[in-house]
Amino acid sequence: MTYQNYSLKQLQQIDAAHHLHPFTDHKEMRGAGSRIITHANGPFIYDSEGAEILDGMAGLWCVNIGYGRDELAEAAYAQMKELPYYNSFFKCSTPTPVLLSKKLAEIAPKHVNQVFYGSSGSEANDTALRLVRHYWVLEGKPEKNRIISRKMAYHGSTVAGTSLGGMDGMHKQLNGAVPNIVHVMMPYAYELALPGESDHDFGLRAAGAVEEAILEAGADKVAAFIGEPIMGAGGVKIPPASYWPEVQRICRKYDVLLMLDEVITGYGRTGEWFAAQTLGIEPDTITTAKALTSGYQPLSALLVGDRIASTLVEKGGEFNHGYTYSGHPVACAVALKNLEIIEREGLVDRVRNDTGPYFAKALQERIAGHDLVGEVRSIGLMGAIEIVKDKATKERFLPAGSAAVTVRDHAITNGMMLRATGDTMILSPPLIWTRDTIDMACDRISKALDLAQADLR
Ligand code: PLP
Repeated sequence: MTYQNYSLKQLQQIDAAHHLHPFTDHKEMRGAGSRIITHANGPFIYDSEGAEILDGMAGLWCVNIGYGRDELAEAAYAQMKELPYYNSFFKCSTPTPVLLSKKLAEIAPKHVNQVFYGSSGSEANDTALRLVRHYWVLEGKPEKNRIISRKMAYHGSTVAGTSLGGMDGMHKQLNGAVPNIVHVMMPYAYELALPGESDHDFGLRAAGAVEEAILEAGADKVAAFIGEPIMGAGGVKIPPASYWPEVQRICRKYDVLLMLDEVITGYGRTGEWFAAQTLGIEPDTITTAKALTSGYQPLSALLVGDRIASTLVEKGGEFNHGYTYSGHPVACAVALKNLEIIEREGLVDRVRNDTGPYFAKALQERIAGHDLVGEVRSIGLMGAIEIVKDKATKERFLPAGSAAVTVRDHAITNGMMLRATGDTMILSPPLIWTRDTIDMACDRISKALDLAQADLR
């Protein structure tokens, strides 16, 4: 029986009765009912009521090539018929992860040539944490095991992901994090820069917090620093240009490894294959997932730099770690086809040279001036809109986060899917968006802001 045999009401009732959702207040959802998305095509998603919604979030930061790509379905079908599954444990392999690893080594920064697969970004960060700590054990420095992360970071939802992340609400429910992980200030100039402090100076000060944490613990106790190049779930917080080079300089000075979480920024979003290339930094690990398959299959790839990889290979013996679905043949076949499409359609270059700059200009010219908007910012096709009560003082509406939810709800009703994090609206659309799609999005967001303003005043 397919879902068409059920009414929307029935689906919502069954959903509420049996399905526990991620990041959802279930009591609230039982009252309101879930929004059921039934199909999608190109940049649009459609709900069970037939509403067409422009997807400003690419699903959950992942559907970079847009929806309805037959080639990906065909790649999955062909691979399922030939070999639906075999593992990559105990010196076995299958062709598609082999070829995908070669491709990833080609597009990754030069010093990154090895790949470890999982099914999710959280798993990949778990692998990264284990690998980095294991590296220092193999190097004869087992006490070098502390990880420095940042407040408001999001690194996934497993115990390791939550512990690495800096979300208070998640830590409160953890009741026992992975030890030896500390969180320093985030590079969020809009709220944290001092009066009169330049962006450049603020970036250096925020990077300085990493050095302070290293000195406090002692460099011989610190394994690595982990960060999202641009904090995504925390509100598309784009650091000043001075931040990342300074963080890298500090890490090198104290021989601390640099772990970059590119689960959102990987595969074209910032106008290069990886944000590491946009920012000109050389991380020791790069966590990727999501857009690796454009979300058509669950797959993550931890890209491992030569420094860690050579120690693991030369001194490591067996690495006692892995997942049943590491290097899943179907997911890897889909990833290969996805990367082929991104390349064939020139989507990365398009973001860098055309849609990224146009998106920035459109947000500045058409959204930033609205009374409810304190700041807009973007990099590539990733943007944020700060919702404020008072543009000059940056005062927010109370209760915190409520105004952004009002904007979001009006946006969705007006055919525009975007996300609210705290008082920040987030956009991370498919890379297939054109200038026309960006214009359409701005029309719908402007309308949502007007309607929200009427509610909020
Ligand atoms: N890291 C970052 C930066 C993310 O944004 C996410 C998810 O949004 C994750 C890790 C976790 O990925 P997953 O949900 O696939 O476990």
